[in-house]
Amino acid sequence: MKSNIPPVNFPKVIIVGGGFGGIQLAKNLNNKEVQVFMLDRHNYHTFQPLLYQVATGGLEADSIAFPLRKIFKGQKNFTFRNTDVLSINPENNSISTTIGDFDYDYLVLATGSDTNFFGSKELEHFTMPMKTIPEALNLRSMLLQNLEEALIEHDPVKKAALLNFVVVGGGPTGVELSGAISELKRHVLKKDYPELNIGDVNIYLIEGSNVVLGPMSVQAQRSAKEFLEEMGVNVVTGVTVVSYDGDVIKLSNEVEIVSKNVLWSAGVKGNFPEGISNDHIVRGGRIKVDRFNRIEGYSNIFAIGDVAAMITNETPNGHPGVAPVAMQQGKLLSKNLIKIINKEEPEPFEYFDKGSMATVGRNRAVVDIGKIRFQGIFAWFVWMFVHLMSLVGFRNKLVVFVNWIWSYFSFDRGTRLIIRPFNRESMTEDTSNK
Ligand SMILES: Cc1cc2nc3c(=O)[nH]c(=O)nc-3n(C[C@H](O)[C@H](O)[C@H](O)COP(=O)(O)OP(=O)(O)OC[C@H]3O[C@@H](n4cnc5c(N)ncnc54)[C@H](O)[C@@H]3O)c2cc1C
Repeated sequence: MKSNIPPVNFPKVIIVGGGFGGIQLAKNLNNKEVQVFMLDRHNYHTFQPLLYQVATGGLEADSIAFPLRKIFKGQKNFTFRNTDVLSINPENNSISTTIGDFDYDYLVLATGSDTNFFGSKELEHFTMPMKTIPEALNLRSMLLQNLEEALIEHDPVKKAALLNFVVVGGGPTGVELSGAISELKRHVLKKDYPELNIGDVNIYLIEGSNVVLGPMSVQAQRSAKEFLEEMGVNVVTGVTVVSYDGDVIKLSNEVEIVSKNVLWSAGVKGNFPEGISNDHIVRGGRIKVDRFNRIEGYSNIFAIGDVAAMITNETPNGHPGVAPVAMQQGKLLSKNLIKIINKEEPEPFEYFDKGSMATVGRNRAVVDIGKIRFQGIFAWFVWMFVHLMSLVGFRNKLVVFVNWIWSYFSFDRGTRLIIRPFNRESMTEDTSNK
């Protein structure tokens, strides 16, 4: 099959993935003597930090997505193809995709991460992940459909299952998601579903370690737990999931909860096409790279962002899977690729950690910036400002800002719509998460 890529005179850099890392890399190669080809299975960039707001009816999906072609409008050395990359063939410097094969001089994997179900097919089938926009929309539909069903269900156990929400994983995603469901319960559901006894809606956050927000400071962990409990979330720490059959979730403390709403945010793993030797895959299913993001054992294949593990004395498990790491690696690799092409010494990567933050709900967030730590309403404003400024595109910033102001004063969430009904049994790979 022909891939229909124009012939070029400059070295050809293929970037797989238009996420945070891929975009920075491609942008910083503008006006350089290379030809950039970006391939992504979506034709848009996803701002993952706000996925939970799409899943809980706070934002429309298109306010956190941005067309990749529009980002690179006018960049002369840039070409985009919307395709799924299936495998890498390092022996002949080519990749195979759903629209044909492509040759490269330099290949960069910026393919991010995927949900880790730790090998459990049962959890993969019955729980709901939230890594992509299609997944967030599935989640939104499922939550709303279950509430509709609860209204007409007479069996008390089946009704309880429809009204129990269990979020597994107490990292930032789990904390944000359970906080948002609690706000939905307190401010929206009681108005939308007057026939429901809102006290019957229960929210659980299950975390295997003894704290929520593991990588953050003790102050942040303590405040996040207190905030969640004030908001009515049952925070259960030091407990893992033993099984879930779609009706009952069994926990390691022998507690069983009936639930049709189990949301899985308990782990991620590197996501990449076939063809990379297993010798280069380390903990968390990530690809081991050197200080220049080059995959060990290959001279012209690189990996950046969530998919890459740069193991150093300071980072024995690689860098955290956050957007600034991907962006900083993308930016440095743009410089290093030019240096490598010009036969100059590349610069090693040093991560500049600007801090971390998570929001729990209205007026409640936690922020750690080095030794400076604060929680509460000011942290919440800082969280909103940083996320608003990081969104791609002026229109998205404006739409999100207007939505947030409106929700703040009206205590409402505008997009609780079942546009594409969720049906687990008819779900294929295409409709689930890809
Ligand atoms: C719910 C959630 C909340 C988060 N919140 C925060 C936060 O608050 N702050 C923060 O810093 N980070 C946050 N993160 C993490 C952050 O989003 C990631 O660290 C970041 O997206 C990594 O960037 P990346 O470029 O490595 O990959 P991504 O941004 O994930 O991009 C990967 C791209 O590769 C494409 N792709 C993958 N495989 C293929 C293939 N085979 N063929 C073609 N295309 C492919 C995908 O479509 C995607 O566009 C959050 C993540 C999630 C899921």
